[in-house]
Amino acid sequence: MVEGRFRDPGTGLYELAAQDIGVVCPRCGSRAVVTPRRVDGSPVSSWSRRFGCTACGSSASWAPADGASLWGGPVDPFFRLPLWLTAQCCGGRTLWAFNDTHLTLLEDYVAARLRERATDRPGLTLVARLPAWLTAAKHRDEVLRVIARLRRSQAGPGR
Ligand SMILES: [Zn+2]
Repeated sequence: MVEGRFRDPGTGLYELAAQDIGVVCPRCGSRAVVTPRRVDGSPVSSWSRRFGCTACGSSASWAPADGASLWGGPVDPFFRLPLWLTAQCCGGRTLWAFNDTHLTLLEDYVAARLRERATDRPGLTLVARLPAWLTAAKHRDEVLRVIARLRRSQAGPGR
């Protein structure tokens, strides 16, 4: 990547949910994980999922027949548990991410001075749909600080 330039890789939320999603365990409050059961050749949104908490041993499963998934808020789309990577930012707004890949995408986009759209599907990608407050130049430093703090919260226990 050229310094200061971000080229939209065309990633959407579905692709980010093809990896583990960090959530808050509803029983013990520890960091737990929603893991996809990958099915090659079928869409990410149709894969079943497993919730697991290593701290207290809770687990659950989700399949598409269990109900519609809910995309686009600070919860995992399947169990609707609060995401682990959430933080208040920019006057009461909520910054959220499924996982580290998501956090990195946000960070690279916000940090870049020059942003280029994805050419094959402009308007449909994650970064093309970010709220204006998150991409505003005046919020750049604050957003990057919050992302750095969230990344540290992934590494160790507690938040
Ligand atoms: Zn737990």
